Amino acid sequence: MTEPSIEAVPTTYGNTTFRSRLEADWAATLDANRITWAYEPEAITLPSGAVYIPDFWLPELGTWIEVKGPGIPRVEKSIELAQTRACHCTAACTCQWPGGELVILARTALPAAGSETGRRPPYGYANWETPHGPSAYSTSCRACQRTQWITLRRPWRCRACRSPLEERPAYRAVDRNLRFVEGGAGLCSPFARPHTTEETP
Ligand SMILES: [Zn+2]
Ligand SMILES: [Zn+2]
Repeated sequence: MTEPSIEAVPTTYGNTTFRSRLEADWAATLDANRITWAYEPEAITLPSGAVYIPDFWLPELGTWIEVKGPGIPRVEKSIELAQTRACHCTAACTCQWPGGELVILARTALPAAGSETGRRPPYGYANWETPHGPSAYSTSCRACQRTQWITLRRPWRCRACRSPLEERPAYRAVDRNLRFVEGGAGLCSPFARPHTTEETP
């Protein structure tokens, strides 16, 4: 649920019209990493009574993604969803996804290292955080090849196939391992602009 902002330009990517170019870019980034996603699939009534429609649900990974552009600090619903859907098992985790459902806040891309300041880089890297609880790391499963986000809470298991991830490298966003794809701009949106200048909120 991306709040209206200067960046909230409806952008079509594939068969979906997103509320913002950043959402469309995240859809393209998920596609590039062969991550199955559904856009705004569900209105969730939180324990507080608030109704929340997260931006993406990743059905194979049990992960929600909320896209948040710069300067939009309202993440209360994301925090509540993360708290509600996290693992609450008292002994061994019996959740459908190891550690329960995960909520990721998806940010604007990190520029490639060495980019000139003041100029939008030709490409960047995916940037994310968690709204609540331990940090999330990107990794990939050797058994099923799925790229995913995990926390470092043990046991480290693939969220899709539950194979052990112990020996797999895990990356923070600042490690710049997951390429960000700008797939939304310039395809179908009448509002698309060339990516030549840095945009500030
Ligand atoms: Zn559990
Ligand atoms: Zn796997």
